[in-house]
Amino acid sequence: MRVYLDNNATTRVDPLVLEAMLPYFCEKYGNAASRSHSFGWEADEAVKKARQQVADLIGAAAEDIVFTSGATEGNNIAIKGVAAMYADKGRHVVTQSTEHKAVIDPCKYLEQHGFRVTFLPVDHWGRIDLQQLADAIKEDTILVSIMHGNNEIGTLQPIGEIGKLCKARGVLFHTDCCQTFGKVPINVQEMGIDLLTCSAHKIHGPKGVGALYVRRKRPRVRCEPVLHGGGHERGMRSGTLNVPGIVGLGQAAELCRLHLDTEPARLTALRDQLWSGLQARLDHIALNGHPTERTPSNLNVSFAYVEGESLMMGISDIAVSSGSACTSASLEPSYVLKALGVGDDLAHSSIRFSVGRFNTEAEIEYTIDRVAAAVCKLREMSPLYEMVQEGIDPSKVEWAER
Ligand SMILES: *Cc1c(COP(=O)(O)O)cnc(C)c1O
Repeated sequence: MRVYLDNNATTRVDPLVLEAMLPYFCEKYGNAASRSHSFGWEADEAVKKARQQVADLIGAAAEDIVFTSGATEGNNIAIKGVAAMYADKGRHVVTQSTEHKAVIDPCKYLEQHGFRVTFLPVDHWGRIDLQQLADAIKEDTILVSIMHGNNEIGTLQPIGEIGKLCKARGVLFHTDCCQTFGKVPINVQEMGIDLLTCSAHKIHGPKGVGALYVRRKRPRVRCEPVLHGGGHERGMRSGTLNVPGIVGLGQAAELCRLHLDTEPARLTALRDQLWSGLQARLDHIALNGHPTERTPSNLNVSFAYVEGESLMMGISDIAVSSGSACTSASLEPSYVLKALGVGDDLAHSSIRFSVGRFNTEAEIEYTIDRVAAAVCKLREMSPLYEMVQEGIDPSKVEWAER
């Protein structure tokens, strides 16, 4: 038995998505920009349909959608593109310390190119403070970029309130919605969102394709392109469209929309089943991220007195992520957990479980058994855990100098 619980990293392509994509490889392989023959027209039709399918999931118009190679590109266009376009108006951007690297790094790039960036801190649950955000917005602020759901800890930000605040202050609002697109209801009008990033492979679509919503009205948002070329996608993203990928993204979005009433609740139930099962079996474990304001799929747990990496090896038939695996090569604890104030020890002992469409209750039960057994085994070897069992607080022990 192999269990895949790393759905925040990527997901299995839904067979219905694959089925929708297949004709666009060997039969309907036209270039969507070819205006002079039916091969081009049928590709263009398919792209139009997908544009509508993506737009429908976020309350946008089809024309607002720009197809990209994924969320990394979408975030780069949104952040660097807005900065370049509005640099005359101001050179200040506000974001938060727990963003995905695909937001953090474009912001750092801006810092090296004459912009100021404010990285807002987060509280113990990973939420920003709205008053701090309001205070951070200055005369020269052009963009606020705050993600909806965090990929590591699942915490949701109040993006509707953030959007309102940005509107009131006349600042553009971008949000990376990779982890919530298709899982949590989103409406760009009601939430005051000007730019929104999503990615197909997080919602059971193919890798290497995503979309950026760019508001066209009230206000009309403009982005300087990152890639220059044939002027596709309203000039914001040149390059021949990835028609099969785009069809896959559209189909994946539609499936999410059709099941938005039931599937998030099912994922939440699986996640909660895992959390209560682990709590029933193990002591000294802690939830990372917000207890209720979190994405349906994510459960991030610290198992005190156990190394996350060792635990992962102990449950090698279950695919999960650890708090230090994200920046894989280094064994630095995750910067996201650090920003929450989680100590290095607990950060090193954290595991991210993320459920998806194809997980079952039986898989969760199996996971609870395997994790509980592995944690107990590792703790048996831990002198620290032994001390705790004897009623000694290891943090109060004065260790001899060597
Ligand atoms: C996965 C992810 C990304 C990167 O998406 P790609 O399509 O793989 O480039 C960016 N932000 C968040 C929050 C993600 O979860």
